Amino acid sequence: MVKQTIQIFARVKPPARKQQSGIYSIDDDENLTPCLEIIIPRDLADGFVNNKRESYKFIFQRIFDQDAKQEIIFENIAKPVAESVLAGYNGTIFAYGQTGSGKTFTITGGAERYSDRGIIPRTLSYIFEQLQKDSSKIYTTHISYLEIYNECGYDLLDPRHEASRLEDLPKVTLLEDTDQNIHLKNLSLHQATNEEEALNLLFLGDTNRMIAETPMNQASTRSHCIFTIHLSSKEPGSATVRHAKLHLVDLAGSERVAKSGVGGQLLTEAKYINLSLHYLEQVIIALSEKNRSHIPYRNSMMTSVLRDSLGGNCMTTMIATLSLEKRNIDESISTCRFAQRVALIKNEAVLNEEIDPRSMIICLQKEIQELKDELALVTGEQRTEALTEAELLQLEKLITSFLEDQDPQSRLEVGADMRKIHHCFHHLKKLLNDKKILGNSTVSSEIKEPDCQEPVREEEYKKLRDLLKQRDNEINILVNMLKKEKKKTQDALHCSSVDRGEIRLIQSSPFPPGNPEGQRTSLFSAPTQSQDCSMLRNRSSLLHKKSGMREEMSLGRQEAFEIFKRDHADSVTIDDNKQILKQRFSEAKALGESINEARSKIGHLKEEITRRHIQQVALEVSENMAFPSTADQEGRLRSQLEEEKRRYKIMFTRLKALKVEIEHLQLLMDKAKVKLQKEFEAWWAEEATHLQVNSPAVNSLDHAKPSPQSSESQQDQSQLLSSQSSRGREAQDQGTGNFGVCVLSGRKVSPSPCPSPCSPEPSSTGTWLEGRTTSSVPLTGDSQTDSDILAFLKARQNILQKKCLGSN
Ligand code: ADP
Ligand code: MG
Repeated sequence: MVKQTIQIFARVKPPARKQQSGIYSIDDDENLTPCLEIIIPRDLADGFVNNKRESYKFIFQRIFDQDAKQEIIFENIAKPVAESVLAGYNGTIFAYGQTGSGKTFTITGGAERYSDRGIIPRTLSYIFEQLQKDSSKIYTTHISYLEIYNECGYDLLDPRHEASRLEDLPKVTLLEDTDQNIHLKNLSLHQATNEEEALNLLFLGDTNRMIAETPMNQASTRSHCIFTIHLSSKEPGSATVRHAKLHLVDLAGSERVAKSGVGGQLLTEAKYINLSLHYLEQVIIALSEKNRSHIPYRNSMMTSVLRDSLGGNCMTTMIATLSLEKRNIDESISTCRFAQRVALIKNEAVLNEEIDPRSMIICLQKEIQELKDELALVTGEQRTEALTEAELLQLEKLITSFLEDQDPQSRLEVGADMRKIHHCFHHLKKLLNDKKILGNSTVSSEIKEPDCQEPVREEEYKKLRDLLKQRDNEINILVNMLKKEKKKTQDALHCSSVDRGEIRLIQSSPFPPGNPEGQRTSLFSAPTQSQDCSMLRNRSSLLHKKSGMREEMSLGRQEAFEIFKRDHADSVTIDDNKQILKQRFSEAKALGESINEARSKIGHLKEEITRRHIQQVALEVSENMAFPSTADQEGRLRSQLEEEKRRYKIMFTRLKALKVEIEHLQLLMDKAKVKLQKEFEAWWAEEATHLQVNSPAVNSLDHAKPSPQSSESQQDQSQLLSSQSSRGREAQDQGTGNFGVCVLSGRKVSPSPCPSPCSPEPSSTGTWLEGRTTSSVPLTGDSQTDSDILAFLKARQNILQKKCLGSN
């Protein structure tokens, strides 16, 4: 058992903007306990929290300042926990802090750079590396990923992947057994046999988390996510299995809605946005108070799930994430206060061992065999399961003579062999029973008339029994048939859905064949296990979901998407990552070639050495004398061989590392693509409504659509927009300017500057439009859509001109 208080660490996030200095200081003297001092700026200090103090000091296990890299965080915080999990103890790491303070960055990692990988991917990598090294035990790893939002649990690793809203994901509920252990019903556990599979699961969960989140429900700031690694280990031949769980928890934002007092200065009372964080705090307070018998774990789902991690059987670590900017001072102080209370909680971690019944049977069988062998050695005779025929005969003779012996002192001597003793009893019983039946039958024959009905009844009974047997068989056959039919239909359904998914994926894959994305399966390990297959299916269905969105896009919308993508801030990151990926791929390819070369060189060198050997031996035999001169040549060959081997090993290790990096980059890119698509959809929807509301000219000119509220008309609006953006690009291509950019100006996410409506050449757009609309440039060919486009373009032109006139 390990007794330990919850470890608390602090991590300060780099500020978004350049920040005034002197807000905090870290006293991290090696000999002293690290201390974080938060200094309240003068202008805030006067009315701060009813308190005249100007600085607050908090003690932590360690404090990581802004420049602390993800690797350092992993090495210092997560690695020790991962090690104790490998040793069989439960572990939990949770990040606590206000929204934007870096919880997700710390737990999962940044979505841009490989080096930004957070605690989860690094821990997975570390655990699998250790498992590979340790051949003394048999390990199994399972992963689960739970999101708790508004007191409801959702399984982020939903194998169906049809969720577009959080509510579509399977709901996870709590079950408590008679021993008051909490079980999570409906939370799926997925086996991961290697790092790649585990990372795929993480990716799947993160993508589901992202897709399920809408701008209206900023679930990520208000939900808790618990990524759990379940590790079982067993020594070969032992019946004892160890189970350990590692929870990696990204909590909801801890910010409170501050109530301002008179003059907006006094923070009198704080109210939580998130009720379950409030309950978490209550649990922590209860645990840190001595002599509290009741701990209110049951108040919320999150505290119930983390029950063992808080004041239970677990090694727990908290990371307080701090965004130490002036406006966040009060939140940062409350995060630190919370951490100080957490640090008072003592946990008692024990090894979770249990006996596996199957292994137990094997062990006992082994023990029996050993005892038998021992017995045989002592008695000098080999004991078999049953007595031999001769022994049985001998025993029966003994019994008969014992029964016939009139001497009351006579004994039945069979020795200490239990088999013989048992057999004697059986035999005696049989004799006794036989005698009884015989006696009965004589008695009955004496009393009753010989019963002539008896054989008939016997026959009837037999017939009925046979009939019953026959019916039973028929029923069994029918049931089997029914089962087979059911299975067939299920399989057919399953296959067709999978096939459909894959066909669509192939047809609508948004990545060109030359893209590294396409090289993925060809270069690296084809999945071998069924688990892998299902993972691939998962990914393909996810990609299908993504590409499905595009598949339904009209041409114009696709074009708008292209523009959106081009101008999006993330596109730089995606392009960068693509470049890096390309580089890594070519490096991997080159490495692969060099490895092959080295391998064949090694082969040649070996052959050469053997050849020389044979030659020398032959020479020595024929000439009958030694040839020392070839020895140094062979020595040279051998050192060459060693050198090649060393090179081979280095390259191989590098290739392995490259593989992990490439996998990760691919996941990052996939994620970025989903995000982009999602943002585009949001922008698109917003733009469509915006268009309906803000373009009276369109409405008035909208003679083709009498009912603008219908969904059809909305779609038309979308088409309008898409046609507009495509034309905008044409305009750009012709150097006529910013019309295309104008179209995208409503977008919030784009960093590209919104073009001024008062461009230097307001008339150029007009001229272009005029020229376009009146000239014979073919539009879509569909007269209704064309008239819509014309109407829209005119309306837009009017608005632009008005704006320009106004500002002039
Ligand atoms: P939270 O999950 O607490 O709401 P995030 O982890 O999403 O916050 O962080 C907010 C932003 O700050 C993200 O863009 C993230 O990349 C960035 N960020 C957070 N911590 C760091 C850090 N230590 N170094 C660099 N960027 C960070
Ligand atoms: Mg977050």
